[in-house]
Amino acid sequence: MLHKISLGIGDIDKYRLIQPREPIDEVVKLGDELKGLRLCHINSTPFGGGVAELLVSYIPLLCAVGIKADWQVIRGDRQFFTITKSLHNALQGAAYEEISQEKTRNTYQNSNLANASQLDPNYDVFVVNDPQPAALRHYLPKSKAKWIWRCHVDSSNPDEEVWGFLRPYVEEHDAAVFTTKEFIPRDLQVAKITTMAPAIDAFSSKNMFIKKYVCRELIENLGFDRHRLLITQVSRFDRWKDPFGTIRAYQLAKEKIPGLQLAMVGSFAQDDPESWDMHAAINTEANKDGNIFVLSNLTGVGNMEVNAFQRASDVIVQKSIREGFGLVVAEALWKETSVVAGNAGGIPLQMTGNLSNYLVDSVEECAEKIVYLLQNPAVSQKLGREGKEIIRQNFLLPRLMKDELSLIKELVTG
Ligand code: UDP
Repeated sequence: MLHKISLGIGDIDKYRLIQPREPIDEVVKLGDELKGLRLCHINSTPFGGGVAELLVSYIPLLCAVGIKADWQVIRGDRQFFTITKSLHNALQGAAYEEISQEKTRNTYQNSNLANASQLDPNYDVFVVNDPQPAALRHYLPKSKAKWIWRCHVDSSNPDEEVWGFLRPYVEEHDAAVFTTKEFIPRDLQVAKITTMAPAIDAFSSKNMFIKKYVCRELIENLGFDRHRLLITQVSRFDRWKDPFGTIRAYQLAKEKIPGLQLAMVGSFAQDDPESWDMHAAINTEANKDGNIFVLSNLTGVGNMEVNAFQRASDVIVQKSIREGFGLVVAEALWKETSVVAGNAGGIPLQMTGNLSNYLVDSVEECAEKIVYLLQNPAVSQKLGREGKEIIRQNFLLPRLMKDELSLIKELVTG
């Protein structure tokens, strides 16, 4: 059997403390209507990256409203995950010539076949997250469940050959879900195609309220000077997050703000073999400057520490050049910390109104906006407050529950 992640039951009523009554009532009503429905999310890693982050909180909240929700994780060896990381990159537009090789296709297919035979099939609905398990449905042709493919990456301009390989598998699903309309590949043919943005859990250890002095103490214990300004990027060690662009922007900003510190907080994921080389390269760059710190989940920088960095930093940077959504942006804004971020993928969905002035297209622009916010803390605070309201209204978990349960209701009631 595949690994099932064991999780408790959440508390949807907590959201009544921070959100208006109506959206929560709607979710509870949907839960009542679908009571007992067996729903299984499938992905390729139990930790590291946005999907795992989301499911950890999302599954318990679904259980809280009466859904029998589970999470199964597929298995794979290094060869499989090397291929699937390239598929992920190719969906975001990178070339991947090896996809034409039979060996590459076979490895992907055989691994999906093996995982399909290990999957607990006793569910009414499966949600298959991202390209790694996208062929499972193909290898379970007798399944009576409804199958949804949930794409979390920016697939607006995928590598043609890779998309040509994946598309038939995706098209065997009953529905396909993308974060935004722009990400839907033009030639995709699925009976139901819809959009829903991810969301964050306001009450997780990543996002719960922590007093500022505790956050400052926490990061001081990691070697930072609490009396000097700090900017932080939190993300997987991944090329699309443009870590070297962030470092260059920091170097430019430092010319105006001597003493500025940069934290590059990153994580490794089970399904991301490229992250080791990327981590090493970032470390080499960071070692040239005593004020750049590289931290990771390997050395104990977990949810609580990320929470502290997102609260204690003067500005959060997310200089992505491709971004499915960027939960890290929502996480920082929820904490009223201002964000300077790449004008890419799902980030502009979150940075609307005045925040859109801090979407950047170059290293220079990124540095300029960082310096402006550091020199104008009142503007920065106002942006943070504006950001928190955007997240409250659009990007907390009950909204995602409502979107997904509405889709499921539509599928199961025909
Ligand atoms: N994250 C973390 N520790 C790190 C780096 C990232 O906990 O060192 C978390 C981050 O807080 C966020 C998720 O990993 O919840 C990344 O999600 P996002 O949507 O930003 O990007 P993805 O990794 O899915 O591309």
